[in-house]
Amino acid sequence: MNFQLSSEQILMRDATRRMTERDIRPILEANDPDQPLPRAAMLQIYALLANHGLMAPRVPADDGGGGLAMLDYGIMFEQLPPHIAISLMGHEVTIMRLHSESTPEQRERFLPDLLAGRKFCGTGTTEPDVGSNPREIKARVRREGEELVIDGRKSWITNASIADIANVTCQEIEASGRGALRRIVVEREHSPFEAREIPVLGLNQGHLGEWVFEECRVPASNALGEAGDAARLLTLTWNVNRPLVGLAAVGLAQRAFEAAVDYAGVRHQFGKPIAGHQLVQKNLADIESAIVSSRLLCYMALDTVDRGERANGVSAMAKRHATTACEQAVSLAMHCHGAMGIGRETGLERLWRDVRMLAVPDATNEILTLIQGREITGQAAFR
Ligand SMILES: Cc1cc2nc3c(=O)[nH]c(=O)nc-3n(C[C@H](O)[C@H](O)[C@H](O)COP(=O)(O)OP(=O)(O)OC[C@H]3O[C@@H](n4cnc5c(N)ncnc54)[C@H](O)[C@@H]3O)c2cc1C
Repeated sequence: MNFQLSSEQILMRDATRRMTERDIRPILEANDPDQPLPRAAMLQIYALLANHGLMAPRVPADDGGGGLAMLDYGIMFEQLPPHIAISLMGHEVTIMRLHSESTPEQRERFLPDLLAGRKFCGTGTTEPDVGSNPREIKARVRREGEELVIDGRKSWITNASIADIANVTCQEIEASGRGALRRIVVEREHSPFEAREIPVLGLNQGHLGEWVFEECRVPASNALGEAGDAARLLTLTWNVNRPLVGLAAVGLAQRAFEAAVDYAGVRHQFGKPIAGHQLVQKNLADIESAIVSSRLLCYMALDTVDRGERANGVSAMAKRHATTACEQAVSLAMHCHGAMGIGRETGLERLWRDVRMLAVPDATNEILTLIQGREITGQAAFR
């Protein structure tokens, strides 16, 4: 076992950090921090991400993807601003699902613009009445001749308002009366549907929102995979998304930690820098422990996926630990700043609002606990 990053991984990490600071950060700062980024700004950022090879790590290089190990991807992902990371995650996982479930003709139609970052995409599973249990999906699809007709709502969707391509999970009611999950690709240009943003606590330059489909007609050739495959693929993709969400939390906590260490070195109370007080050192030590343990667990989960081993338990553990520990770490870093921590000037309150968003997507802590418990005991406590 080797706990050191390889020289290639260090190069990838540092290059991504440089791109974030030199190229992405100025675009973010030129726009309102409390509003979803304009499409033009997102296109600029996606062009940078595509040039950097971050668009589709799981798609083989021969098909236009990055052909990267997920651990290497995670190391780079951690360096991105969190709302860009979450947007990219929604885009990447949609590309991966499209690639896995599509025919060569469908890949040719849908993937080139997405891989180049010229178009945006997202996956719609969650609905107003369907969250932790996606098997209860109510959105319906029915076939009419050469068309599929979709009715339903999808909520809390990453990239909702900028997505050109929506990958929508629906129920198709078979002749027997049983429902089967189907994934349908909806191109907004050809099959318009309503998309709107939902005002939220954090990640405010992102585009979290909802989609409304009312008799939305798409060609029958937009159906992906075989009926019933969708649930299995969802599990496989969650095992990667969960540690990635954890690493977005690690990236946020790392920034808060660096700010706290700097501040503790310059802020004087009782005649010396507060860094010299034992309890401030304890707070800094707790923050660092949260970051390091979270990062290692998330790397371990991605490495498990890369080795082709079952990752359900470790991925769930990594996300739950990282989002919980890093939320506490950001809060402690604010605390190290005293009143300055809750002021707007230091930017820490924004990191805190952002990290709070990450406990929810790709399974809540309760569901993650039950997934881990199922792996330990072999007994499902939910479903
Ligand atoms: C930033 C962000 C990005 C997202 N992106 C997407 C996306 O791109 N696509 C998409 O489809 N969705 C997305 N979501 C939605 C997300 O996947 C859901 O919000 C999540 O699955 C939880 O569903 P819910 O909000 O309906 O909560 P619910 O399932 O209603 O849960 C409410 C509470 O009950 C608890 N609970 C539920 N069932 C159990 C149980 N069996 N035992 C114990 N406790 C339980 C939960 O843990 C939670 O605390 C995103 C959400 C966020 C915040």
